[in-house]
Amino acid sequence: MKKIREALETEEETRLAPYAVRSGESRGRAWPEKEHEVRTVFQRDRDRIIHSTAFRRLQYKTQVFVNHEGDHYRTRLTHTIETSQIARSLGRALVLNEDLIEAIALAHDLGHGPFGHAGQSALSELMQGHGGFEHNVQALRIVEELEESYPDFPGLNLTFEVREGLKKHPENFFAQRSKRFRSVEAEGVDHADEIAYTCHDLDDGLRAEMIAEEELRGTRLWEEALNYIHKKYPRIEPAPRNRLAIRLLINQLVMDLIETTRRHLEKLGVKSVKDLQKVQGPLVLFSPGMTKKMEQLRRFLHAHVYQHYRVVRMTDKGQRFIRCLFEAYVKKPGQLAPSVRKRVEKDGIYRAVCDYIAGMTDRFAQDEYKRLFEPFERV
Ligand code: MG
Repeated sequence: MKKIREALETEEETRLAPYAVRSGESRGRAWPEKEHEVRTVFQRDRDRIIHSTAFRRLQYKTQVFVNHEGDHYRTRLTHTIETSQIARSLGRALVLNEDLIEAIALAHDLGHGPFGHAGQSALSELMQGHGGFEHNVQALRIVEELEESYPDFPGLNLTFEVREGLKKHPENFFAQRSKRFRSVEAEGVDHADEIAYTCHDLDDGLRAEMIAEEELRGTRLWEEALNYIHKKYPRIEPAPRNRLAIRLLINQLVMDLIETTRRHLEKLGVKSVKDLQKVQGPLVLFSPGMTKKMEQLRRFLHAHVYQHYRVVRMTDKGQRFIRCLFEAYVKKPGQLAPSVRKRVEKDGIYRAVCDYIAGMTDRFAQDEYKRLFEPFERV
């Protein structure tokens, strides 16, 4: 049986691009473990993430639209799956390590609290002076510390490469960039994330009728998609047309990313993962033209979706839930269940409450709010 995993490693050795991360060369785990008989280290990491509690919670966490607003909007879970799909397409085309990509993509949003952006802003405000809160840092904290599924170690004991792949976004990480391990796989996931949320937030915004069609006119990526569609299907109805336009948009972005990155890596002349560490600037990128068009679309979404009064209402309501819960727990920790009280002893009241709330789904936070504040609700 052992031969199966070894055969997979050998196959990676010969098949993958020279700058792809090889599972046989992983720097390993914080707690050394015996290798699996049939799965490579990154396949094992991916499976651990899928079977984690934090992963299942993504189902009831908000992306942009609060879950009870409608059944067809993206949740954190479907966003995560779309990100993973796009990242794997990129990885397959560039002959990267798809298992590493999948593991990073599936874990990339584990640290988000309830109510989407509201969770991030409320918790970071409440944790000022108490160590702060940032969802990317929280994702690491979950996989390194908070998941309690294994008797031999805290967290999921993931490989170095997956954990490094989860370190991104916040400024303080960029400051230490030179010390970080870089991979095309991890930076590919970052871009896949951006493609996924840009396209699906546009799709959800159209569905929710927050975006009027006329407003989208002048947004170049949208115009280009519509021009193509109207030539091919002159009599197409708005709903199928919008769905087709979103598909075209994703395809355009992914194709541009693949082609630009492929040429970029070729030009850099990188021959190994070690070479990647010396590169200044990005490893994965859009062409200059696409970057501009993408920025234009992002600005549009900001003004018309993220700032839409209904999204602002959802955000504000979410923040209120979080603040009320946070303050109630900190004031009277006796209200916390024993499992959370144990963490209070270990991490202090603020961090324990922050971890507890960050782990909540929208639904749980709403129920908990009722239990704490509505007089006739069962506790
Ligand atoms: Mg994401």
